[in-house]
Amino acid sequence: MNYREKIKDKKRIIIKIGSSSITHPETGAINLTKLEILVRELCDIKNMGKDVILVSSGAIAVGRQAIGFHHRPKNVAEKQACAAIGQAQLMMIYQKLFSEYGHQAAQVLMTKNTMIDNLSRRNATNTFEELLALGAIPIVNENDTVSTYEIQFGDNDTLSAIVAALVGADMLILLSDINGLYTDDPRKNPDAEFIDIVESLDDHLMSMGKGSGSDVGTGGMATKLSAAKIATSSGADMVIANGDDFHVIHKILQGEKIGTFFHENAKEDFYLIDVLENEG
Ligand code: GLU
Repeated sequence: MNYREKIKDKKRIIIKIGSSSITHPETGAINLTKLEILVRELCDIKNMGKDVILVSSGAIAVGRQAIGFHHRPKNVAEKQACAAIGQAQLMMIYQKLFSEYGHQAAQVLMTKNTMIDNLSRRNATNTFEELLALGAIPIVNENDTVSTYEIQFGDNDTLSAIVAALVGADMLILLSDINGLYTDDPRKNPDAEFIDIVESLDDHLMSMGKGSGSDVGTGGMATKLSAAKIATSSGADMVIANGDDFHVIHKILQGEKIGTFFHENAKEDFYLIDVLENEG
């Protein structure tokens, strides 16, 4: 069975990009060329008649740059201040770029404690449905300015999988600074082999994602695999690919063999509330 071919028929797609994919590694400043390509790709998915939701990291990275921090924000207040500045800047750029292609970007900031609340979660689902019905492109991030360590999603890999489950997406694409899943860490083991397709996430595979990579994001392979577990159990296929060139988005959606593909494995007893209460 060609799983990749079937991606062409996906109707509701979540795309998650990491902070390292939208900033210049040399300076930490925002990479406008890449953002421009990202937005054009997403607008084109809309033009195909599909629903698209962007989960964008980068609030803290962009805010840190705006303030002139050369270090990672150390404490919670510093981090939250950076996020407050960076999130607004990021949305300003997104709004501008999306409107150039005639599309509306909408900001959705989420926290874990509002998602645990049944009424808030239902409201969030209704808002997403309404935004999509209106033809808007929701841009999601964690509400870093108010979430605190104990109750945060912590990383946008997990958040994007939760959004996928919340809106019943059929496809989640995680773009970061890694190519996909290997049998071992390819930076340390030259014999590590790339894994093209994962049909089911067993314990052995789950244990493969040790160690993180970059200086700006929070998610390593472990968080990507736990995101894969959530997304596939909720019924969405998932691809992890390198976000170095955002043109991969339309290539993935055309069924090209890019990144690692995780086949959906919808569980009858999948309840988002269980995930929210047990995760993190
Ligand atoms: N919410 C964080 C930010 O926008 C990013 C978290 C993550 O990259 O996983 O900076």
